[in-house]
Amino acid sequence: MTDTAEKPLMDKEEFDSYIVEKYPDIFRDRRADKTKTLMCWGFDIQAGWYTLVDELCQDLDAIQKATGIEIIAVQVKEKFGRLCFYISINYHNEDTDFSDSWYRIIYARIEKAGQKSGMTCEKCGETWTATLRRGSWLHTLCDEHAEGRPAFDKEEATGCEMS
Ligand SMILES: [Zn+2]
Repeated sequence: MTDTAEKPLMDKEEFDSYIVEKYPDIFRDRRADKTKTLMCWGFDIQAGWYTLVDELCQDLDAIQKATGIEIIAVQVKEKFGRLCFYISINYHNEDTDFSDSWYRIIYARIEKAGQKSGMTCEKCGETWTATLRRGSWLHTLCDEHAEGRPAFDKEEATGCEMS
């Protein structure tokens, strides 16, 4: 792989410590036991999506701080070329209107990141030519990183359910 991008991307370990340190509440289970969370396996995504995940966490963290709702990441991975960001939510509020509306806001924000990931190269973060590519696997890649693999018809993709 000749992956010499002009802008230096973080490597997996750098990103891991960076994001866990920046959002300690969201990633409080990063080092928890594997019987409790899948977060213990780390971030199963490539460098092109790191900014996207950072931006998502920034918004979730703001919601958390403003509302007292606990948002804890359970698993962060790529599946079928799309970001899957699984969380558990603790509302700390008995009011169902409160939890219902925040549930919608939180999952809409995660869904937005999922949609954006489908247009962001997993390897370099490029968003001009990146699209889902066919191959022995499905990944979202730019023209350069697709290495000739054709685009995949999105209608055929199942993606992953966020609810
Ligand atoms: Zn790329």
